[in-house]
This record gives sequence, C-alpha cells and structure tokens, in this order.
Amino acid sequence: MSVAIIGAGAAGYFAAIALAEKQPDAEISLFEATGKTLSKLIISGGGRCNVTTSTTGARELSAFYPRGSRELLGPFNRFESGDTVRWFESRGVPLLREPDGRMFPSTHKSITVANCLREEAKKLGVALKVQMPIAKIKKNESTGVFELVVKKSKERIAVTHVLIATGGSRGGFTLAENLGHQIEPPVPSLFSFEIRDRLLEELQGVSFESTELRLECLNGETFYEQGPVLVTHWGLSGPAIIRLSARAARALAEGEYNAKLFINFLPDHNTESVQQIFREWKEKHPRRTVSLHSPFDLPKSFWQQVLEGGGVALSSKNYSDLSKQDMNSLAQTLTAKAFEVTGKGRFKDEFVTCGGVRLSEVNFKTMESKICPGLYFAGEVLDIDGLTGGYNFQCAWTTGWLAAGGIAESLSTGIATTS
Ligand SMILES: Cc1cc2nc3c(=O)[nH]c(=O)nc-3n(C[C@H](O)[C@H](O)[C@H](O)COP(=O)(O)OP(=O)(O)OC[C@H]3O[C@@H](n4cnc5c(N)ncnc54)[C@H](O)[C@@H]3O)c2cc1C
Repeated sequence: MSVAIIGAGAAGYFAAIALAEKQPDAEISLFEATGKTLSKLIISGGGRCNVTTSTTGARELSAFYPRGSRELLGPFNRFESGDTVRWFESRGVPLLREPDGRMFPSTHKSITVANCLREEAKKLGVALKVQMPIAKIKKNESTGVFELVVKKSKERIAVTHVLIATGGSRGGFTLAENLGHQIEPPVPSLFSFEIRDRLLEELQGVSFESTELRLECLNGETFYEQGPVLVTHWGLSGPAIIRLSARAARALAEGEYNAKLFINFLPDHNTESVQQIFREWKEKHPRRTVSLHSPFDLPKSFWQQVLEGGGVALSSKNYSDLSKQDMNSLAQTLTAKAFEVTGKGRFKDEFVTCGGVRLSEVNFKTMESKICPGLYFAGEVLDIDGLTGGYNFQCAWTTGWLAAGGIAESLSTGIATTS
C-alpha cells in the first residue's frame, strides 16, 4: 500500500494529489532531490506560469507535440486542458485566457499555482520528503517490492509502487534505464537559431508578423512552419522559429545545429506572383523611387536591406530602371531567401528536453511500464515534448493524473486479492 513518487515537480505533485483523492488510505511519499519543490513551475512563463492552453479536444491538442502526439491522443480523451481549467478553478485558482490562447492564473503569479498544489497535497496527507535524491531503485522480482536508495545517506525505503516524475534530469533517466527502459537521447527543444547573414545586419528587433519557413536538415529531413519571426542580434527567434526548433529538434541535434532555412517573407505570394507585382509597378508607377515605395507591407528597414543586398544600387533607382534580373532577384529574396543556420541560441521563456523514456515501453492507459510492473512514469521524463503555450504543463497534468488512476486501480486490485 506504499507508493513512492520521485520528483516534486508539476507531474509528481499532480499525481500525488489525484492518488490521495482516489485512495485516501494509500501511504504516499513524494521525494524531492533538492530543498525546494516545484522550482521549474515557479520560474515558468516569466514567473506567471502558463498552466495550460485554451486549445481543447484530444486531436487538436495532440497536434502541438512534436514527440508524443500519437500516444497522447488517448490520454487527452480522458484528461485535457478543459479538465485542467476546472481542476484549478474548483480549488480556488481561476485561469484566464490570453488572446493567443495561453492560460495563466488570474493573479498572474506562478506562486498561486505552486501554493495550490502544495496545500492540496498537504491537506490530503501526502508525505513530502525534500533533500531526498533517489539514487537507485531495485526491484525484488519474487515479492514485487521496490527498494529505493537515497543518495549519500544510503537510506533504503521499500514500496510497492514507484512513479518516476523526475523531469528532464539525467538522474531520472538512469533510474528508468536501470529498471530495463530505453532512453531516447535527450536533446534540447525550443530554441532560437544562430544565423549570420548580411540581410539581417542591423535589423535587430525587427519582426515579421507572418512568414512561411522551410528548414532543410543535414540528414535530409525537411520541416515546415509559419507565423511570426523576430530578428535578434545573433540570428532569428520568435514563435515560428521556436516551433520549428521543436519540430526539428532531433534532426538539428544530429546535424550539430547546421541546416538551411528558407523564408518566404510574403506568405500570401510566391516568387512568380511577386515578380508579376514588380512588373505591374514598373508599368503603373515608373517614376516612383524604389526605396521610398514598396509594393508590400514590410518593415521599412528590411526593405532597405533587401534593396542594398541586391548588389546593384537599387535604392536610388526608380521602378522604370528595374531590369528583369533586378525584379527576379528581389522576388527571390522576398519569397525564398536561404539562410545558413550555424548554431542554436537558448529561448529564455521556456525550455524543454526532447528525449526520455521510450514511449512504446509505456502503457498510456495507466502510465505503467510494460517492462517493469509496478513502475509508472509521468511528465517530462517521457520522450514527449510540446510546443510553447502551456502544452508541456498540460502533458505533466494529464500523465500525472493517468498515473494516479493506474496506481489507484492496481492498489485496489491488490486489496481485493489480499482480503
Ligand atoms: C524557464 C522555463 C519556463 C517554462 N515555462 C513553461 C510554461 O510557461 N508552460 C509550460 O507548459 N511549460 C513550461 N516549461 C516547461 C515545464 O516547466 C516542464 O515541462 C514541466 O516542469 C515538467 O514537469 P515535470 O514534473 O515532468 O518535471 P519538473 O518540473 O522538472 O520536476 C521534476 C522534479 O524532480 C526532481 N528530481 C529529479 N531527479 C530526482 C531524483 N533522483 N530524486 C528526487 N527528485 C528528483 C527535480 O528536482 C524536480 O523538482 C518551462 C520550462 C522552463 C525551464
């Protein structure tokens, strides 16, 4: 009847609370390696904690996970973003929707979310054990009992069920590996791109509301995205770049963050339609100075850079002076400009690990290991990661909730057989 939950983060806390509600007699211990619980949650979302998203529906939600989308379909049918909103609201933490769909606590403070989880767990009798890093887990195959060994003190704890909710920490992966699991190699997800290109020089801070991106990785894989892009002093960032980094996380890591990025800065057009527009302007507005009059709604400084980057002094020309080659070259730059990605920057708002416990080895109805009965997983320790916007926490809530259900069911079956 004793359960060890390893890791007092979002997934560990949520599982502990859900299990204590379902099985009030269960002896639940929540082990945390450090002196502080929920530390990632507290710094998340710029200190506001983007708890979940307003995207609802299993299919719609699962599309936001570059890894785990297929496996999360079933789990989201059982506990999705709407359930998260109701869960927190019924415990005194209403969540507010921002225009982009992200949902934050109405206090705009992550500590409200952390305190809610801490108080619920305490009220339900979950035994919190901080500064208790679990270094080893051994299973006695004949009794089915797990023995946990605490680092340094070497204290040993015997339990019947273990939930590993250690996030992206290497130590957690080692625990899973030692119990027979395969780990997909951890690599970063959600980052900006390092790009050195003349076109971007002196454009730091300039943003494009809408672009179309195509990323060709060295291993031959191609990834697509669309949306806003921001020029930074080291290259490119913004929501579309960050999403692209998540989709291509593994392929980019394999290629040591070298890839070719093609950008269409005019996603409503293609190269031919832009050439056509230039031809029309040449006919209709021959006396207009190219640098002063752009046919497109683009940042002025970018338009200047595009003209200067044309090699010929296009800025001083009138539309009547534009040659066919000038127009083709401009159209190419605006719709299919190629950039060399030479590295990755870190995205400061959110950061997750791609990689973790291999998904085919986990039963997504209960989150129980298919290899080691009695062992469960939840949260970022799994090879699941979402795009920005509250999807990573949603995965922690959903998998934590399912793991609690799985453990509760196993405990009640155990009671039934022993009584
Ligand atoms: C700066 C930042 C901002 C973010 N913002 C958002 C956001 O706004 N929205 C969103 O959806 N996602 C966000 N994320 C991602 C999100 O924080 C994670 O996906 C989420 O915290 C994962 O929850 P988890 O419980 O699986 O792991 P964690 O929150 O990492 O918790 C794991 C816990 O396990 C403990 N632990 C590890 N090993 C052991 C061990 N051997 N023994 C005992 N304890 C151990 C760790 O100390 C930690 O407390 C952000 C991430 C970062 C870094």
